[in-house]
Amino acid sequence: MRLQILLTIFILCFISTGNTQESSAVKKPKNIILLIGDGMGLSEISAAQFFNEGDSHFDRFPTIGLIKTSAADNLITDSAAGATAFSCGIKTYNGAIAMNVQKKPVKTILEQLSEQGYDTGIISTSSITHATPASFFAHVEKRRQAEDIAQFLPESDVDFIAGGGLQYFNKRSDQLDLLPKLQQHGFAVDTTKLGAISGAMKQVYLLADDGMPRMSEGRGSFLSEATALAVERLSQNEEGFFLMVEGSQIDWGGHANEAGYLISELIDFDNAIGTALDFAEKDGETLVIVTADHETGGFTLSSDGRNYNKILPSFSTDGHSATMVPVFAKGPGASTFGGIYENTQIYHKMSALVLNQ
Ligand SMILES: [Zn+2]
Repeated sequence: MRLQILLTIFILCFISTGNTQESSAVKKPKNIILLIGDGMGLSEISAAQFFNEGDSHFDRFPTIGLIKTSAADNLITDSAAGATAFSCGIKTYNGAIAMNVQKKPVKTILEQLSEQGYDTGIISTSSITHATPASFFAHVEKRRQAEDIAQFLPESDVDFIAGGGLQYFNKRSDQLDLLPKLQQHGFAVDTTKLGAISGAMKQVYLLADDGMPRMSEGRGSFLSEATALAVERLSQNEEGFFLMVEGSQIDWGGHANEAGYLISELIDFDNAIGTALDFAEKDGETLVIVTADHETGGFTLSSDGRNYNKILPSFSTDGHSATMVPVFAKGPGASTFGGIYENTQIYHKMSALVLNQ
C-alpha cells in the first residue's frame, strides 16, 4: 500500500516535470533565416561531405528532421508547390506561386511578418522571379509568369533582394521599366555588384539578366556575401527579421545530371549556411533552418561496381524524385523541427514561433 502511494507520487512528479519541460523548453527566436537547397536530398549533402575539403557546416546542427514533399495534385512536387508549402503552409498544385488549389492568393509568412514589423529579405542564385524566391513575395497562377512576378516587387514590403532576373524588370515584353518604379517605392537598385548601396534602407541587387552564373563560371562567393550583407542590413530592425536564402542551382545540376555542377553548388550553399550560423551563434536570438523543397535527379553515391573504395555519383532521372528530404535547425525553437512531417509544417512551425496570432 505504502509502496503504491510512493509510486503514484513518483509518477505524478514525473508527469508534471515532463509537462513543464515541454512548455518552457521552447525558447522563441527573434529572427529566422530559412535556407533552401533546391533539389537537395541526403545524397547531395553526403556528396558535399565526401568531395569538400573543409568541414561541412551541416555538422553544426543539433536538430534534424525529415519532410514529405508531395504536392496537392502530384506525388512529386515541383519547386513552386514546394516553396508555397514553406511560405504559406498549404499543399497546392505544381506551378502555383503562393496560390491555393482554387487559384486564390494566400498570404506568405514573409508578408505576415512584414505586417508585424519585421524586416525581410530574399536571396537566390536563380532569377529572383524563379519559383522558390517568387513564392515568398508574389502570387500568380503559373510559375512561368516571370514578368508578372517581377511586378509584385515594387509594391512589396521586402527590404533586401539579391539575385538574378534583371531582364524581367527592364527588358520586358510590355516595354515597362520596373527599375524606376522600384526607386519610386523606396528601393535603392544596383545591377553591378553587391555592397554598393549598403547605406540604403531597402535594397535590390539584380546582378544577372536571368539566373546567376554557375560556380564553375565564376559566381564566386555571391551567396555567402549576399547572406552576410542581408543579415547586416536586416538585423538593424529591433522587431526582428526573416531572411530566405536559396541555393537554386543544386537543382539545375541535378536536372542536368552533372555531378560536378551539383557538388560545386552544394559546397557554395554549405558556405552560405556557415555565414548564417556564424551570425546566429553570435546573435543568440536567431533560428537557422536548412531544408529542401524536393530531391532532384534521384542522385546517389554508388560504388563503382564492386569497388567499395570508389564513389561513382550517379542519377536515376533528369526530373525530381519523391524521397523525403532533410531539415536542419539550430537556435531558439530548433527542437520543434525534429521528427518526420509534411513540408507544410515548416510554415506552421515557424509561425508558431514568431507570428503573433
Ligand atoms: Zn525545386
